[in-house]
Amino acid sequence: MDSCIFCKIVRGEFDTEFLYEDEYVVAFKDIHPQKPVHILVIPKEHVKEFSQLKKDEVLSSVRKAIQLLISENDLQENGYRIEVNGGGSQLVDHLHFHLMGPMEKPIV
Ligand code: AMP
Ligand code: ZN
Repeated sequence: MDSCIFCKIVRGEFDTEFLYEDEYVVAFKDIHPQKPVHILVIPKEHVKEFSQLKKDEVLSSVRKAIQLLISENDLQENGYRIEVNGGGSQLVDHLHFHLMGPMEKPIV
């Protein structure tokens, strides 16, 4: 999609460093990190939101990317959160998975 900022990133228009790339997804650092590790994993194909995702292969690649990034960033030991934004709650209308950490355990 021409005007979509994440599609532009996929096309390499901003020289974004990819922390993971395969046939279906790329991962890169969030420009406004909310945690020391804050990475976005997005499908290469423009998918507006989770409910419109059709290809199982994308989810398989998201799993591979996130598991690798958890390991590379020592988040298994230090805690992490994965957030998937959907229609109406997101700023960028291109499906993306936030991986953030380390996370504290919530106080109950
Ligand atoms: P949201 O759609 O609410 O999940 O927010 C979009 C996320 O994308 C925010 O966390 C932004 O900081 C991030 N973001 C927007 N533009 C870029 C960019 N060019 N490179 C990296 N992250 C971005
Ligand atoms: Zn897009």
